Amino acid sequence: MKSIIQNKKQCFICSRRYCLHDHHIYFGTARRKISEKNGFKVWLCYQHHEGTFGVHGSKGHETDLYLKKVCQIEYEKKHSREEFIKLIGRNYLGGDIDE
Ligand SMILES: [Zn+2]
Ligand SMILES: [Zn+2]
Repeated sequence: MKSIIQNKKQCFICSRRYCLHDHHIYFGTARRKISEKNGFKVWLCYQHHEGTFGVHGSKGHETDLYLKKVCQIEYEKKHSREEFIKLIGRNYLGGDIDE
């Protein structure tokens, strides 16, 4: 799996090494492909992926946002903010975030 923010195969949140899923950090129909191509992906354990507090879970909003920010920071080490916004359609760093 290609990831710009992770090189170990373990849960990005808790470092667990079993029941791992690969997660597209920016998901949804169009952004999933963009994430795939650019390495906007991480390994997450089942719990941090689809559990209640997982990124797709009902109480996982904070974790989801955290990954989106970390990934944007990493991307912007080599690219401009304009390039990021062009890809993902929004900026997760600074300002108000309502999503
Ligand atoms: Zn985990
Ligand atoms: Zn996912």
